[in-house]
Amino acid sequence: MDAKRRSFLKSAAMAAAGSMVAGNTSLPVVHADQAVDDLPTGEGMTWNKAPCRFCGTGCHVQVGVEDGRVVAIAGDKAADVNKGLLCVKGYHVGGILYGKDRLTNPLLRKDGKLTEIEWDEAIETIAKRIFDSPQTFAFYGSGQWTIPEGYAAQKFMKGGLGNNHIDPNARLCMASAVTGFLATYGVDEPAGCYQDLDECDVLITWGNNPAEMHPVLFSRVTDRRSRGETVRIIDIGTRKTRTTDAANDYLEMKPHGDVAISLGIMHLLIENNNYDKSFVEKHCNFRGAEELTPTLQGEQISEAEFRKRIAKYTPERVEELSGVPADQIRMLADLFGNHDIRITSLWCMGMNQHTMGTAINSLVHGVHLLSGHFGRPGDAPTSLTGQPSACGTVREVGTLAHALPGGRVVANPEHREQCEGFWNLSPGSINATPGYHTVKMFEQFTKPTSQGGDITTMFVQVTNPGQTLPNLNALFNDKQGLEDKFLIVSDVYPTATTVLADLILPAAMWVEKNGVYGNSERRTQQWFKMVDPPGEARDDCWMTIAIAHKLFEMGYEGMKDKDGEFIFAVKNEAGEEIPIWEFDHYYDTNVDKHLFEEYRQFTTMKHKNLAPYDEYVKARGLRWPVVEQDDGSWRETKFRFSGFDDPFVTAGQEFDFYHSSTNDGRAQIWFHEYAPPPEMPDEEFPMWLCTGRVLEHWHSGTMTRRVSQLSRAMPTAYLEMNPEDAKAANIRQGERVIVESRRGKCELPVWIDGRGRPPRGTIFVPFFDETKLINNCTLDAHDPFSKQPDYKKCAARVKKLAEAPS
Ligand code: SF4
Repeated sequence: MDAKRRSFLKSAAMAAAGSMVAGNTSLPVVHADQAVDDLPTGEGMTWNKAPCRFCGTGCHVQVGVEDGRVVAIAGDKAADVNKGLLCVKGYHVGGILYGKDRLTNPLLRKDGKLTEIEWDEAIETIAKRIFDSPQTFAFYGSGQWTIPEGYAAQKFMKGGLGNNHIDPNARLCMASAVTGFLATYGVDEPAGCYQDLDECDVLITWGNNPAEMHPVLFSRVTDRRSRGETVRIIDIGTRKTRTTDAANDYLEMKPHGDVAISLGIMHLLIENNNYDKSFVEKHCNFRGAEELTPTLQGEQISEAEFRKRIAKYTPERVEELSGVPADQIRMLADLFGNHDIRITSLWCMGMNQHTMGTAINSLVHGVHLLSGHFGRPGDAPTSLTGQPSACGTVREVGTLAHALPGGRVVANPEHREQCEGFWNLSPGSINATPGYHTVKMFEQFTKPTSQGGDITTMFVQVTNPGQTLPNLNALFNDKQGLEDKFLIVSDVYPTATTVLADLILPAAMWVEKNGVYGNSERRTQQWFKMVDPPGEARDDCWMTIAIAHKLFEMGYEGMKDKDGEFIFAVKNEAGEEIPIWEFDHYYDTNVDKHLFEEYRQFTTMKHKNLAPYDEYVKARGLRWPVVEQDDGSWRETKFRFSGFDDPFVTAGQEFDFYHSSTNDGRAQIWFHEYAPPPEMPDEEFPMWLCTGRVLEHWHSGTMTRRVSQLSRAMPTAYLEMNPEDAKAANIRQGERVIVESRRGKCELPVWIDGRGRPPRGTIFVPFFDETKLINNCTLDAHDPFSKQPDYKKCAARVKKLAEAPS
């Protein structure tokens, strides 16, 4: 079929899709406070837009409010991301506000007992601990932080305290995606967007289960089949999942096999002279790791050297390393060698939670670059995020131990100077030494101070490390009994983390506060507070500002700017300061808007330009870079680095990697040698243990387990086991077992031939259930560049505990 005809059929199909899904042939522009069409109305009922609280897809919902309560949720038909669809979690997102055990008062542990206290005492207690020892304080945050929350925390730590010990839970889920993008393009975040899913001929899922983890996105692909389009899905995984059920091909790999597979594809493209020579010659360099101290920059190697290094990754050797038959490797290489089709790769935790996370991310980018499957709609290597603002808050605001907003880093004097300029701080305010990454931060917190554990106070906001850290016994549970260590946790419900907290702060959540998120396709989305939080629960951003102001009152110099003003000062039109540190006055102004506009100055520095806040109020999100047009309107960018769409590509160029780490407009095709996993099954621990998520629950289940519909649908964690393994161990469906690793154990019921079907020698356990903490068993070994731990493979054994209940 010629390209023109195929593109006509595709646009016809998309128009049909639009009419099927949205009820219109084109999506109408609907203002935020305007109901889309058939939403129920009633006296006092209002509707407003918000992005979903859960995954990084960034679906938009319409939130129905009556009598101060969220009473209805509808998919937002005006939203380009989801066109009115939601997954089962999204449909129930309103219910997360109304669990019976919401935290409603600050609680301080006094004589071992949690006791209700006033907010003033809570803020004073925190400020005093920080004042007494600012450099032993650590802030642990989240990809669920809104952009203003993360920005405030970042400025408080790096600008105010001169302390870089701030890191987010996103270190545990997508840090290797960041280092993969940086190593390849010199700048983070995907070039493509969700439109690639509408346009690709082949979708390859690399250790990824979007049917459960990003279901609305996956339906964008599978729905095309019901409209008569052909899209081939190739699932490369370590166990069969719901994604496999929809796939045309399932390539079962050994854990760590993805590294070998990507090398094998590149080997064949080169060997068969079937790569895109013109694209590579014009737009790419070859890179290899330096021998002594490897960096993300790597060292330049010639194409001949690349050929030489990759020569040994023949299909047969790759079969040996990965377990995927040589013919299937040839099939993948033939597909990538065909330039008449469009190929999109998707990945998420499977590739990121990997001790070779940076390497495998770079290698998959390399497969796309070498084959020229890049930068045309449908041709994209794309990583997905698990949290709603992992991109917006963590990657863009830079709430990582080494980073500053706008792609700046603390180790670079020029970058520090720029930030100090934007923040009106005295020169030298920002500390040049990167802080502790997540694993190190918790190691230092749980190690006795007398033994060098130099983090003594930790503030955890919007996340649940007591359940989600790897190797929990070492990294979290060891805090118990350490009298001088002080854990502050802000959350909406009691969690596995609050169990060890010394101070618990009740937080407002989602539409109980204003917010801005940034999703996986570079889309920034805004919403307004719609209902009040319960009891004394308050905004996380307010907490940060209130602590900062208390320090300011105590005379802490860092909380003053160069002119002696409070670093978070907001003034009214008359030039008077609004006391936003007092909660009664926090909503006298839109603090989010003030912080966002301040942050926006940073975004032009790496061509991640954002529009003014008010543009996001009108829109269902905009994908950056967003640039102003001659007529004053703001235009988003769908395909970055592609001349036909990206305003920053040099005029006349087809592609321009304008942040190239080699300063020549080129992307880097990396070679990395395959290395075995950090821990392998042996006689004592003979099984591979993999952990992950399920459709009904979002991450540690804190919110979704409070929604009865979701909780009933998936009440408990379980252990997936292959029927042959179960038979050999005399284990039957539903019987309880102990799964054990060198680090800890966990008791679970067994599910055989359930939703996921692991091969022999492999078990899988989801981590959403706080009553069954599988992270007691997982490994804290991490990627050397991204510091992201490997939750996907460690050695374990299974012991039968009891017969199944009858
Ligand atoms: S796919 Fe993600 S963002 Fe969309 S409704 Fe489901 S959980 Fe929410």
